[in-house]
Amino acid sequence: MTIAALVLFVAYESVKTLLFPGLSVISSHVITVMVVTIMTFFVSRYAFRRYSAALVEINRQTEMTEETNRLLSAVLATMREGVLIVNSDMRIVLYNDAAARAMKLPSTIRGKEGEQASGQAFSDISRLGALTPSPIQPFPSPRFDPYRLVDATRDPLINSAFRRALDEGESVEARVDMAAPEARSFQLNVAPLGRNLAVGVFFDITQLERLERVRREFFANLSHELRTPLTAILAYAETLLDGAIDDRENNVRFIEKLRKHAARMSEMISDISDLAAIESGKVKLAPSAVRLRSIVAETFNLTEARHEKSNVTFSSSVPDNLFVMADRARLEQILCNLIDNAVKFNRPGGSVTVTADAREGSVAIHVEDTGIGIASSDLPRVFERLYRADKSRSRKIEGSGLGLAIVKHLVQAHGGEVSATSEIGRGSRFTFTLPLAAAQDAAAHLGEFN
Ligand code: ATP
Ligand code: MG
Repeated sequence: MTIAALVLFVAYESVKTLLFPGLSVISSHVITVMVVTIMTFFVSRYAFRRYSAALVEINRQTEMTEETNRLLSAVLATMREGVLIVNSDMRIVLYNDAAARAMKLPSTIRGKEGEQASGQAFSDISRLGALTPSPIQPFPSPRFDPYRLVDATRDPLINSAFRRALDEGESVEARVDMAAPEARSFQLNVAPLGRNLAVGVFFDITQLERLERVRREFFANLSHELRTPLTAILAYAETLLDGAIDDRENNVRFIEKLRKHAARMSEMISDISDLAAIESGKVKLAPSAVRLRSIVAETFNLTEARHEKSNVTFSSSVPDNLFVMADRARLEQILCNLIDNAVKFNRPGGSVTVTADAREGSVAIHVEDTGIGIASSDLPRVFERLYRADKSRSRKIEGSGLGLAIVKHLVQAHGGEVSATSEIGRGSRFTFTLPLAAAQDAAAHLGEFN
């Protein structure tokens, strides 16, 4: 640069001497100063423009980076999958809230003062600096002492998956079970991120595995439930063919058994298709204001007729002016199933009580019995299709385990919830909610009946 300026100056002096040989020293200096000033002006202007353009570009880049960081932070925070980035020292440089929930890490949700609720601001991508733009570098901040992965989780599978991804530069997959804070299963995929980082994504597969188990058990139970009446039908048919048809004393009894088992199968199949239709939303409800007290009384009569020998007493305490918004036939089906269970699983001399109370905009209806009760391990599962608690005892009592699944879906289709509490040997209490009918709907209902 200096040599170029020197050559330029010598060239300029030579041209000037050649063009103006008689120029005095002072005039020569004046001309030189003027030329240098003009050139400095143009060069500065050019440099200034370049500088301004560079500044604008830097600002644009900074805004873009901040925007990217904001988006990335938001995406990470809302992700249901846990994300964890670990550096080559096996220290966590970034994690999101889902990962914090699964491991011993402070929450990433900001507190009132804008700082993290506890611990360091791991989820704040901007503090990760070197993460964007690529190439990705290890976490550089000297103020920041990242957690060790081993402190967050001692699970050898997780630690070795990150170690392998970092050492071998290859993706690693593992299935991880965590016991605390609650039992959950994860599919962990760890992939190298640049040379010094590895990113692990934890997919929560707890629910997926539960559904898979329920599905497997459903088909196992279904074939069992169908096989029982089918075997009986085949056996009675063969007995009749083998000559019992001419046995005047027993043939009608056998045919009656055939009919009973066939009816059970047909009932079960219609329950299954009913359930499938309710689940898929194909069943259209026609809600209207229904007087709860009268429908409970009707259901009691129906159940009493079905279980003549049950020796169970019925009582209800439902206010006369309580109206719910429900599809009348479906509400009857819900109550029938619950009251039927309350009688079936009761003890001789026991009782079934239906009560109801109105809450904010909804009505809670309780069906309580003094029966055998349900073990706490079975209680969360009784609403599953074909699930029957206490298999040995339930087998003796007729039923296929579909009633409560139908109840659950019907209640949900009405916008309500169903739950159960129980004590073994003392009884059970099933509660479901339905929307409370608005005053004008109830008045319209009364009008229809006047
Ligand atoms: P279905 O209703 O299809 O005729 P089910 O009565 O056996 O057959 P659900 O009504 O779905 O089936 O009930 C599932 C299981 O929950 C029952 O088999 C029983 O073990 C248990 N259960 C339900 N209600 C009660 C109750 N009131 N007391 C004790 N156990 C109950
Ligand atoms: Mg039932």
